[in-house]
Amino acid sequence: MAYLINCPHCGQRTTDEFYIKGDASKQRPGTIGDDTMNQWHDYVHIRDNVRGRTAEHWHHTGGCRQWLVVERDTVSHEVYAVAPASSRTPGKTSATPARKSAARKTPARNTTSRKTARGEKK
Ligand SMILES: [Zn+2]
Repeated sequence: MAYLINCPHCGQRTTDEFYIKGDASKQRPGTIGDDTMNQWHDYVHIRDNVRGRTAEHWHHTGGCRQWLVVERDTVSHEVYAVAPASSRTPGKTSATPARKSAARKTPARNTTSRKTARGEKK
């Protein structure tokens, strides 16, 4: 079942354009420590099969080729939030679900007043 994802770079696209990589809630282990090998094993190989709300890494393979974090419900496929992976702290989810209608709107542009690159109004 294809549904829409609001890519922060490309706008609304169908899920057919994305590759789902997996859980985005795991924290990358450090490189030094007594238990580092076990932590890396768990980080790379152990996955929960979440039923309900989850955060996943998605790659926009058919678009901007950027990595995103998509928060969605694995049962209903409702999408709560989409953010660039580089702007997100692992293990955190958004506090409030994004409204469906807000995700579909095009950002409003102010055409009456524009600023130049130096911040001067035209
Ligand atoms: Zn994109």
